[in-house]
Amino acid sequence: MAKKLHQIIVVDVEATCWEGKNPEGQPNEIIEIGICILDVKTLERVGKEGMMVKPQLSQISPFCTELTTITPADVANGLSLREAGEILRTKYKSKSCTWASYGDYDRRQFERECIAKEIAYPFGTAHINVKNLLALTKAWNREIGMAGALEKLKLPLEGTHHRGVDDAWNIAAILAAIFKMTR
Ligand code: AMP
Ligand code: MG
Repeated sequence: MAKKLHQIIVVDVEATCWEGKNPEGQPNEIIEIGICILDVKTLERVGKEGMMVKPQLSQISPFCTELTTITPADVANGLSLREAGEILRTKYKSKSCTWASYGDYDRRQFERECIAKEIAYPFGTAHINVKNLLALTKAWNREIGMAGALEKLKLPLEGTHHRGVDDAWNIAAILAAIFKMTR
């Protein structure tokens, strides 16, 4: 498939989580897929969306709601991960665009869950780890969290931290800042 290089799909997922160990039989499952589209030429963020995904095997704990603000009611009518993947592929051309996320977590969660649920992995091979790229660009010798990165770059943390849609929006601003340093 020919690569599309005009835009980057920035993705940030939220997943079911607990304060300590997972309860018996409940794996971490994606509950929100935050998406922000970064225009490569203008470095403007040209779109954002949060897709709510209904977990199949796990429940949203009070701890998870406290962290993410996402409640069981928010995902009650959510998509299945398979349906969300279909939207990524058709609406966002996720197989042929470069995609980006902050760290390894989001990519690995997608890989794990697609294998476990026997569904098609919705992304292509071109992935940017923004956390790693920022540390390398700045020669910091260590990777730092998203909130710290925004602070260092004097960028505002917009929206609610740990909401996928807002995290994706803010990560796209970090990626845009990195490109601006190198153009
Ligand atoms: P984030 O993109 O930083 O909001 O984190 C993505 C997901 O990682 C969250 O939806 C949680 O499932 C998990 N996570 C993040 N921080 C924590 C934490 N302090 N304790 C447990 N799980 C966490
Ligand atoms: Mg997040």
